[in-house]
Amino acid sequence: MHLHTEEERYGRKKERNTGRLRRILVDAICNPHWHGRELAETTGDLILLAYLGGADILGPMPNTKIPLLTARDTTVYVEGCRRLALRRKLRMRFIPIVMLNEDTTYGELTKCKKAGIVDGKIYPYLRTTRSAHGVKHWGKMIQVVKWCGELGIKVHVHFEHPDLGYIDRECEYLCLPVCQIFLEETDAIIVWEHGSDSRCIPMWKKFAKTGRFFLTITAHHLAWNEDDASGDVRKRCRPLIKPEPDRNALVYLVCEDCDWVMLGADDAAHPVDAKHIHDGKCACGDFTSPFLHLLCAHALDCLLQTKRGITIYNNFTSRNGRRFHKLGKASRQIGIIRRPSRIQPSYKVGPWIVESAGAKEELLYSFTS
Ligand SMILES: [Zn+2]
Repeated sequence: MHLHTEEERYGRKKERNTGRLRRILVDAICNPHWHGRELAETTGDLILLAYLGGADILGPMPNTKIPLLTARDTTVYVEGCRRLALRRKLRMRFIPIVMLNEDTTYGELTKCKKAGIVDGKIYPYLRTTRSAHGVKHWGKMIQVVKWCGELGIKVHVHFEHPDLGYIDRECEYLCLPVCQIFLEETDAIIVWEHGSDSRCIPMWKKFAKTGRFFLTITAHHLAWNEDDASGDVRKRCRPLIKPEPDRNALVYLVCEDCDWVMLGADDAAHPVDAKHIHDGKCACGDFTSPFLHLLCAHALDCLLQTKRGITIYNNFTSRNGRRFHKLGKASRQIGIIRRPSRIQPSYKVGPWIVESAGAKEELLYSFTS
């Protein structure tokens, strides 16, 4: 599961030699891809758990039960999040994100801009959980993406092809030409959400040369490979967790310290009965919020051995996202230590019991005060 066995061994030896473990201070997480679910039911607890996992910025995804398709809906939702955070005395900021689809109008986008909403998200129709308002025809989106470019609204895309004729293993890779067309035909900033297929890396690097291409990667795609996820519904997510060579290549990409690569956790809570089902297919999403920094540290352990590496870790988990969204510095620092901890099996989230991805598994790091 870990690449850097030499460094790991070295790390362990060092711990033994010094007799005590080194506390590492890292920036609070900027997580521009977070699922807050329904305001009245679950959002308050989800904000608290994200805070405990180390975040101070959350970008709520607009695929709520009633999707956030307008400036008004998005503003009401984000205001609700702010109120819930305030009620719990949590210092948390939110990035408002509107859903974009074939029906999005120029008029609505100008309203968004006026309301300070400068991020939009495209979902592929029915390819993932809660995507009934997603896009069927990419071609029709070129005009919408163009408008976003004109208005300075960043376009975040769940790049998996909605045509189910394309098999799961290929449906992210096959979006490369779609992304290329968006970049060539518009002036918009494009964010490829939760990149998982390492075959895309050479093209991502080429796209990044435009200065208008950005990539988010989740902690779970960095920490686990297909074998780790196989047979475990708690790790079932979109895009699928890929084989070890992909995970390996994503970790290396993060280590390259590109300013266009940032964490987007896609931490998505589902009630236990939506995961362990007897009919149909389980809901997709990995719940990683309460231990997000530990999972990142576990996956990127190779970086946390040196001062330079810790800077790269902070860039990926926090600073690149803050710069991109113009959000200033982290509001707090989080203490972590290279002492094993175990992922809590489940959490109470409003009326739900939510099981963690990687429940009961050991992570290399623990939180420390
Ligand atoms: Zn998501």
